[in-house]
Amino acid sequence: YDDRDGVIWMDGELVDWRGANVHILTHALHYASSVFEGQRAYNGKIFALTKHSERLVKSAAILGMKLPWSVEQIDEACKQVLEANNLTDAYMRPIAWRGSEQMGVTAAKATPHLAIAAWEWGKYFDEEKADKGIRLDIATYRRPAPHTAPVDAKAAGLYMICTISRQHAEVRGYDDALMFDWEGRVAEATGANVFFVKDGELHTPTADIFLNGITRQTVIELAKNRGINVIERRIWPEELEQFEECFLTGSAAEVTFVSEIGPWSFQPGDLSRQLRKDYDDLVNGRQVSA
Ligand code: PMP
Repeated sequence: YDDRDGVIWMDGELVDWRGANVHILTHALHYASSVFEGQRAYNGKIFALTKHSERLVKSAAILGMKLPWSVEQIDEACKQVLEANNLTDAYMRPIAWRGSEQMGVTAAKATPHLAIAAWEWGKYFDEEKADKGIRLDIATYRRPAPHTAPVDAKAAGLYMICTISRQHAEVRGYDDALMFDWEGRVAEATGANVFFVKDGELHTPTADIFLNGITRQTVIELAKNRGINVIERRIWPEELEQFEECFLTGSAAEVTFVSEIGPWSFQPGDLSRQLRKDYDDLVNGRQVSA
C-alpha cells in the first residue's frame, strides 16, 4: 500500500503518500503502542465521523496517550484528507502511535503521533460471496478477558490474534473466523461484530469484552426503528444451530451475510436483507424507507 499517488495527513501536514514513513525504531512497531480507526465516506460524507474521532481519542487515552489534537481537529483533518485526495467514496484510516523518540517498554519520552490516510476500498468481503453469505471458521484463539487487556480500545495489540485467526481461517478455505470470548461464548469476527436472527428477533452478544462497534450500534437503532426486538445477551455456541440468519457488521464490512460458521449453516432472509438496505440507505444519506 505504500507505492501509490495521493497524500496522507501526518502530524498536521499533508505529505506525499510514498513519503509518509516512520523510523524502524518506532515504539509502536515494537510494543504495539498504537490505536486506530476505520470509517467510510459515502458521496463525500464521512459516516459517523465524530463518533470515530471520539473513539480514537478514547482508545489513545486508554493506552495512556494524550493526543495533541482535539476531536474537532481530527474531524477536520479527516475531511481535509478526503478532499485533498479527490475522494468521495473511500475508506479512511486514522492511526495514533508512539514514535521513535525512545526505545524500551517505557513510554515516558515516546511522543504520540497521528496520521490519516484515505483510499478507495470496495467491499471488505468479495461482493458476490457476501450476497450469498460468507463462511466463518471457528478461531482457536479467544478474545481476552477484560482484566487481561484493554478490550474497549481499538488498539493494534488486540489485532494480533485477529490476524492469526483470519489467516488460519483463509488457509482452511474460509473467509473469516468467529471468535469466542475467554469463557467460550460467541464474541465477534476478526474485524466485525456478529448478529443472529431467530423467530423475527435479533440476537447479538453483549458488547462488554469486545468493541461495541459503531455499525453495531447503528444497526441496533435501525432494527428498533422497525419495531424489531433486539436482544443483547450472552450467546453460547450450542445455540448457533437454532439461528436462522446471521450477519456481521463493521465500518469496513458494513452488513455482510454469513452462510456458515463451522458446522452450522444460515440463510440470509428478509430481516437481514432489510437491515442491510436500511444501513445502505442511511450511510448514503437516503431516507430509510418505512
Ligand atoms: N470488532 C472488531 C474487532 C473490529 O475491528 C471492528 C471494526 N472496527 C468492529 C468490531 C466493528 O466496529 P465498527 O462498527 O465501529 O467499525
